[in-house]
This record gives sequence, structure tokens and C-alpha cells, in this order.
Amino acid sequence: MNICSHTLIVGFLLATLCPVSTVAAEAPAEPAIRVTLLGTGTPAPNPRQFGSSILVESGDTKLLFDCGRGCAHQLWNLDHDYLRTTSHLFLTHMHSDHTVGIADLFLNGWNLGRQSALSVYGPAAAEDLMRYLRLAYEEDVRIRADLQTHTVTRETLGYTVTEVMDGKAVVIGGMTVTPIAVDHHVVKPAFGYRIDSGGYSVVISGDTKFSENLIQNSASADVLIHEVMSPALERFVRKTFPTAVADDIVALHTSAPEVGRVFSESGIRLGVLTHLDNEPSRIPELEEQIRTTWDGDLVVGEDLMIIEIGESIRVVKPERQ
Ligand SMILES: [Zn+2]
Repeated sequence: MNICSHTLIVGFLLATLCPVSTVAAEAPAEPAIRVTLLGTGTPAPNPRQFGSSILVESGDTKLLFDCGRGCAHQLWNLDHDYLRTTSHLFLTHMHSDHTVGIADLFLNGWNLGRQSALSVYGPAAAEDLMRYLRLAYEEDVRIRADLQTHTVTRETLGYTVTEVMDGKAVVIGGMTVTPIAVDHHVVKPAFGYRIDSGGYSVVISGDTKFSENLIQNSASADVLIHEVMSPALERFVRKTFPTAVADDIVALHTSAPEVGRVFSESGIRLGVLTHLDNEPSRIPELEEQIRTTWDGDLVVGEDLMIIEIGESIRVVKPERQ
């Protein structure tokens, strides 16, 4: 167990640059992959955590994985230019807590001057989502593009949708993105993604139950960002919904001991937890459960946490407001 990851990263509330896993040589000045957790929350609105969304960068290339509540807001928080220059979006599945921020990304990015179409990759149903979103905002487009003096035009408000399939990789700006079919119960299809660049890799589980296919495709990856049905989240679900409904919701996800098993069997360097309520008082019982099956480096995700992946892995914890 790495002491730094469990004292500084989890315990401190100040911005921290902490080497989670290191080898002898110094970390490269520019990591091969930089991951920013834009949203680590659940469908329940939470002022500290936006909806599911992760930005993965290599050099100047930006790839977005899911666009839940507040996704555009968080891109703006990173850098005002990011909302305009992020134009590749991968969807893990069609649950609304992973897609509800797309309208803001699509329209506001265009309004700010995005010149290329928004390239969306995901399940076939993403085509319907984009088509109807575009139609839903036609009046806004008419006002801005047709009636106002503006730099944007109808031509620059484009999108493409590419259906993804298990194992069929795409290469964008030197990053290879491989879709991984996962098991999100009745939600079919559902995908995780493995991103490889410069000899390093990060895997994003998406929403899933325990998935052998995810383990196989995460083999020897550097970082695995995995959803979890934390004990606190399960209590919330069972308090909020009738028993049969709650059972069905819990069956969509991976329990904490199962997540630890996925980390162990994948042989990764760092496990990151997301899709949870990370209120600090709820973390100890979660960690305790993960530790029954995983004794490697572990980080509980927070919005705007940065993970730099190279020879060393560094986690930069956001400063709490
Ligand atoms: Zn889901």
C-alpha cells in the first residue's frame, strides 16, 4: 500500500501533487496521458459532484468520455478554451446521467466558435439522441445563426455519430481508443473504453456489473477508473425506491469488493473509484470493503482531480472551495 495515496491524497483537502506509483527515474515533464475527472457523481444532484464525465488528453488531443450534468461547466473551469476545442465525445451507454450535458457541449461549444463537427462515438442510439437534440434547439439555432450578427453559422453546427463495437479500435491524434463491451444488466449495449498512448494506458469502466471482459481488456493497464455501488449509495437507493426497484438498480453496478477483485485481476498500477457519493465520512467503509480484495494503490475520485500517467503516475487533487 502506498502511504502517500492514503494519507495525502485521501486525507488532505489542499491541492496536492502526489506520486502514487513511481519507478526510479523522474516523471517525464509531459505525461503520456492526462486524465481529468470532470464529474464523479451519480444521477442524484449533488453540489459537490457533477455527472459522469472524464477528459483524456495526450498532447493537444482531447477526448471526452461521457457528458453528464455539468460537463461543459467543468470544461470551462479547466480552461475557457476547452469548451470550444473539445470535439470528440465517446459515450459508454445511453443512461441520461451520462448524456444530459451534451446539449451544453454541443450548442455552447458552437456558440463559442467550435469550427469542427462534434464527433460522437457510442451505441447506435446515440444517433437518435443527437438528431433530436439538434431538432429540439432549432429555434436557438435560428435566432443565433439566422437573425443575429454572429460568427457562427448553421454549417459549423455539425455532428457525426459512429457506432462502436467491442474491440474495434479507433485512433485519434495518436490515442488508440478500444471499446470494451461491459455488462450493465438490461442496458445493452454498454461499453468501457481503453485508451492507449505513448506506451501507457487508462481504462474507463463506464457503468457495469462485474465484467470479465473488462478485466481481460484492462490487462496490465496503468490506471483503471471503475464505477462502484458504494455502501452509502446502496443505502440511498434502498431508502429512495421500493425493494424490487432498488434490487434492480443495485444489479446494474459493481459492489466494492467486486471492484477490488477487478483491480487485482487486471494487474493495474492504480485503481480509481468513480460514480459515487464521495462525501468524506462515507469513504472509510468503502475503502474497507475494497481492501478486502485489493491492496494496490487506490484513489477515490473527485471532480477536477487530475491523473497524469507516464513512467510515474501523479494524482493532483483539486482544492476544495
Ligand atoms: Zn448507467
